[in-house]
Amino acid sequence: MEISIERTDCISCGLCVGACPEVYRFADDGLAEVYHQPEGEAQERSARAAAGGCPVSIIYVEE
Ligand code: SF4
Repeated sequence: MEISIERTDCISCGLCVGACPEVYRFADDGLAEVYHQPEGEAQERSARAAAGGCPVSIIYVEE
């Protein structure tokens, strides 16, 4: 599984960072980034939930 974000369209809502802080964080520019790919089922599940919940649908999950 690999997660990526189309960062330029991020509106900094914080949903992904709140849902799965092991994978997502805010970078210095205030936009979310993937700093660590999910490890294990629990992280994969919350990383996927964040992707589904992103209000601008810019988180991509490659299985
Ligand atoms: S959920 Fe989407 S819009 Fe919100 S901070 Fe994460 S990437 Fe940005």
